[in-house]
Amino acid sequence: MIDCIFCKIIAGEISSQKVYEDKDIIVILDISQLTLGHSIVIPKNHKRWLWDHEDEEYCKIMKISKKIANSMREALGIEWVEMIVAGIGVEHTHVHILPRYEDDGHKEIPMPETKTKEFKEEEIKEVLEKIKNALVV
Ligand SMILES: [Zn+2]
Repeated sequence: MIDCIFCKIIAGEISSQKVYEDKDIIVILDISQLTLGHSIVIPKNHKRWLWDHEDEEYCKIMKISKKIANSMREALGIEWVEMIVAGIGVEHTHVHILPRYEDDGHKEIPMPETKTKEFKEEEIKEVLEKIKNALVV
């Protein structure tokens, strides 16, 4: 088995704060919370890059990403939700979905260096519930 933190989260060996899960995809809150509600969409099929997935799987990743983004817009009363696919860090495809707030302090691309706010556990839980409740799949 590949030593991959996301595969371990998918297998339930490492706990996570789940936003959504189906047979192909899991969506969890990113531990860094660069913005409040910062989530990552992870396909269960381990591939190094998003571009390695077959079309059908790729489309499903994008479809769920859109649903998560729209649930954030609905739940958090915001318009701007950012999607970032980088690929450095964990070597298992993941799509960052970041709700953007006017006062979040970040420039166009949120980075750990531009994070000015730390969020309380209750605050994160509350946002997680809001996003989950607004999610229509
Ligand atoms: Zn993996």
